[in-house]
Amino acid sequence: MNKKIKTLIIASILVLIFFGLIQAYLINNTYQIKKDGFINETRKSISRMDDYSPVLDSVNDVWQDYFITLLESYNDNVGRVDTLSFGDKKLKQEELISKLLLKTDSINEGYKQLYSRELAKKNLDLDLKFQKRVKRIIIKDSLYEDTIFDDTGEEMFHLIGDEFSLEEGHKVSSSLWITQNDYVVGEGENKEGRHFDIEFVTQDYMNIDGWKKIVILRMIGVFVMAFLLLLFVFGLLYYSIKNLIKQKKITDVKTDFINNITHELKTPLATMGLATKMLRKEEVLENSAMIHSTIGTIERQNKRLQKLIDQVMDNSMGYQEIELKKEPVLIEEFLNSILDDFLLSVKEKDVVLTRKIKIVSQNISLDKFYITTAVLNLLENAVKYNEKEHILIDFEAKILDGNQLQIIVNDNGIGISAEEQKNLFEKFYRVDNKDIHNVKGLGLGLYYTNQIIKAHHGVLKVKSKQGKGATFTFEIPVNKNLKTNMEE
Ligand code: ADP
Repeated sequence: MNKKIKTLIIASILVLIFFGLIQAYLINNTYQIKKDGFINETRKSISRMDDYSPVLDSVNDVWQDYFITLLESYNDNVGRVDTLSFGDKKLKQEELISKLLLKTDSINEGYKQLYSRELAKKNLDLDLKFQKRVKRIIIKDSLYEDTIFDDTGEEMFHLIGDEFSLEEGHKVSSSLWITQNDYVVGEGENKEGRHFDIEFVTQDYMNIDGWKKIVILRMIGVFVMAFLLLLFVFGLLYYSIKNLIKQKKITDVKTDFINNITHELKTPLATMGLATKMLRKEEVLENSAMIHSTIGTIERQNKRLQKLIDQVMDNSMGYQEIELKKEPVLIEEFLNSILDDFLLSVKEKDVVLTRKIKIVSQNISLDKFYITTAVLNLLENAVKYNEKEHILIDFEAKILDGNQLQIIVNDNGIGISAEEQKNLFEKFYRVDNKDIHNVKGLGLGLYYTNQIIKAHHGVLKVKSKQGKGATFTFEIPVNKNLKTNMEE
């Protein structure tokens, strides 16, 4: 393949990869935007739902009231009157939290049911779970501040709602519950009023089952467009390169043809030039025998030139231009006469022709002239493209299905690669047979044969492997109800 075309192919592949990467980047960006949009949209719908819904709010009141009571008795138990202190903090804090969690556990089922009911009112059509996690609990009085829990370093813990991990959820909102509390400790003279503030920070999380699928489904249009665009660019590049290669091939084939025809024309022209020069010579002019012989040479070369030009003109005809003169032909006789003439033309070579004509005494309507040309082209190629000392050709003729004349020409020649077979019937196409020297041709023989067979509404096929000989088969429809005679 031409270097320029190779560079173009590599450049196109790189452009495609680059284009694909840009598409992937844009799709990823769109995915992020769509995802954020979807999550925000859902978040907005359910944000602070438990604050705004009186039923859910009343459930929150239950654990909040309980927490306050816990704190009172907790502080009381410690027995400190002057400050708010929680004794051995670690143990006490854990105890406080675990007691609170026991409470939320006991009301959780009811809370979840109520939450689902409230959610249903939003008509979100999503499989959504909700939970509250505790972020911070700080208790303060006028002098001291006591951090019961802070999530810096520790993970927020689940307070109420559905169970799912933080990675599976999306944050909905934060809530800050601040309350001031006054209460009395001791009795009689020891009676004393106490006051403390609670700062309780929670965070709400939601878990949407199959959210990725939902987002991807929302992007289906983008995917389809991106895919079609990529396919279009790929198709465009593929088509352009394919066309370019085809054009290049046509140009090569035409150049080859011009080289071949120039080569073919040179010899007769040079001979004619020499002959005319000779005719100017005195000694030739005085010798009538020499004049005749030289004129004979000029005539022969002229005929050769004429034949060459006719060959190019005729063999370039398309099947629509071929005018058939069909006549009933006794096929066995007709084919044998072609084979006999052919054998005469190659008698200097060691050609062994095996005939398997399985049609006896049958009249078939065809154009004798054109079919002779087609068969001879195949037979001549079987000799031309053969390097063997003993050239073996099998010729077979039979009737298929009672209405098809099938002719097979098989040889033991150089064969044709599968790649070359694709173009074999194209005008001017010649295989670059580097190993086989001095084989002249214009690349018209098989083209013309194919056109002749097409004009007969038939097909020409080739089967071959490089170095393993070739089999050319043509089938043409003939008058119905003919039989192959199985005796050979
Ligand atoms: P030409 O013989 O003038 O080159 P053809 O159209 O008859 O043109 O053949 C085209 C090409 O097909 C040839 O160049 C040759 O390489 C290949 N070819 C044709 N017949 C045979 C064959 N029997 N065995 C191998 N190659 C063949």
